[in-house]
Amino acid sequence: MIPQSFITDLLNRVDIVDVVGRYVQLKKGGANYMGLCPFHNEKSPSFTVSPTKQFYHCFGCGAHGTAIGFLIEYSGMGFVDAVKDLSQSVGMIVPEADDKIPPQQRAAQQAQSMAMTDALNQACDYYRAQLRQAPAAIAYLKGRGLTGEVAARFGLGYAPSGWDSLRSVFNDYDALALVESGLVIDRVDEDGGNKKRYDRFRERVMFPIRNSKGQVIGFGGRVMDGGEPKYLNSPETPLFNKGQELYGLFEARQAIRDAGYVLVTEGYMDVVALAQLGFPQAVATLGTACTNTHVQKLLRQTDTVIFSFDGDKAGRRAARRALEACLPQVSDNKTIKFLFLPQEHDPDSYVREFGADAFAQEINEAMPLSQFLLREVTTEHELDTPEGRARVQFDAKPLLQSMAPSALRLQIVRGLANLTESTPAEIEALFELSKPVSVVRKAPPRQGRPEPVGLELQIMRILVSHPAISLELDDAAQRAFDHFGGEAGERLRQLVEMAQALGANGTFAALSQQLKETSNEYDGLISEIASSPESDIDQDRIWIVSAVRQIKMDVLKQELNQLFSSGLTPDQVSARYREITAQQDLLMREAANDIPVKFA
Ligand SMILES: [Zn+2]
Repeated sequence: MIPQSFITDLLNRVDIVDVVGRYVQLKKGGANYMGLCPFHNEKSPSFTVSPTKQFYHCFGCGAHGTAIGFLIEYSGMGFVDAVKDLSQSVGMIVPEADDKIPPQQRAAQQAQSMAMTDALNQACDYYRAQLRQAPAAIAYLKGRGLTGEVAARFGLGYAPSGWDSLRSVFNDYDALALVESGLVIDRVDEDGGNKKRYDRFRERVMFPIRNSKGQVIGFGGRVMDGGEPKYLNSPETPLFNKGQELYGLFEARQAIRDAGYVLVTEGYMDVVALAQLGFPQAVATLGTACTNTHVQKLLRQTDTVIFSFDGDKAGRRAARRALEACLPQVSDNKTIKFLFLPQEHDPDSYVREFGADAFAQEINEAMPLSQFLLREVTTEHELDTPEGRARVQFDAKPLLQSMAPSALRLQIVRGLANLTESTPAEIEALFELSKPVSVVRKAPPRQGRPEPVGLELQIMRILVSHPAISLELDDAAQRAFDHFGGEAGERLRQLVEMAQALGANGTFAALSQQLKETSNEYDGLISEIASSPESDIDQDRIWIVSAVRQIKMDVLKQELNQLFSSGLTPDQVSARYREITAQQDLLMREAANDIPVKFA
């Protein structure tokens, strides 16, 4: 857990205009900056960044958030990574409660990763320059239909023949960073002596692999003739984890947004070839099966993921692994589909033979996850015998158990029940599915809290806009919130507590970031504040003090009205009457000293 105080400090330290400006071209327009929204396709700018609120908001698609939120949405980083990235940019170090790494060791790690990044960048530049002088490699890429423009977009290069070509690139070919980053291999004799170092990639077309920030973290190399292995990747390094990275994601980000889906292919040649053929929304796993992390990363970019697999046996195996990686993350607002190409084709060859329209059609008609799952569990068993049907259920059990309760899971359960002559409830009971969906139908839906209105809403609006104002609210003020009713009062008290915890430095950006992590109850309000002109904190402060006073008055008046029918003795009534009127007097005198502003 990163402490909230750190997040607040961080949001105070970074400037969202800089952060967004790294990715979106911004122009000053009035108090705000404007640009083309990176989250939806538009021709005239409706995306605004407010330096005072430290918040972005799009009037076109409603996207909004803080600098942290922007990085998460834009680059697909997780929360912690986004915080780390921003911290680094302003020289802050993220405190980690369970971090047992001593500072010196961490500094050493940072130095190591910088040296590796540096080496990879130099190698990348070198390979690109080499490509221009390698007619055979250029002919090969042209033969695959690639233009120079696409080759440049993906930073393609060429590793020449020769065992130590990189020696000419680095002052110190024996540097540790070269072997740590996987650029070279150290071979030693069996007795450990006679170390010999040589380049890992030789005579290969080079595909730089970038992380979500665009930094080169490794390479893939492909032979141009019949050499072996056909594809060679960098080894796993501290920078490069195959189970986490997707080739082409950095380059495809905008295209994925424009297309509304991402196409996941099996290799980097597929990605580059598809970009050339009009499908720039493609990415690829890096010679590994699709992992949970891959799926998570993809679903952060888009709601629709379409896997494309070659029609061979290996393709089918890969599809099954992808299905298993997807199931825990399936939800009803996400779409996952599987596209199986004819036996002898990969996407590149398919588009060449049948054309882009035919391929688009295939994508359109890809098999939904539910259908693929049912097909997977039924293909090898006979549905017309009890044993066969039991076997199908047996195979389906772990798959369904890995899914969270959802409408889609219920649909699959229904389909399976149909195929195996059972009922959905029987399947759910037999599979011990958590929170069976088919039988909880009658349970009362969890009631959300009533929507805030009027005075309550206005108080919330001010507290979220200017959290520091919460420090003006004493216990009596918070007790007065009960006047709005149990749940609404509770909500206001929680909000005050969160706002007060941010202290005098509390800002809209910090509080909204925190609210977003706790619930979506405030999304509407946050969006509204983000899209309206900034209110004046001093006026808001005066307003809220007088509003609270007004609530206290209302509470007293209500009590006074009911005093005579309250069942108290006449003596008690008159004693209480005097107390109430005295408090009313006090409040009125207080009010006379303040000037209430815009309070109706
Ligand atoms: Zn937008």
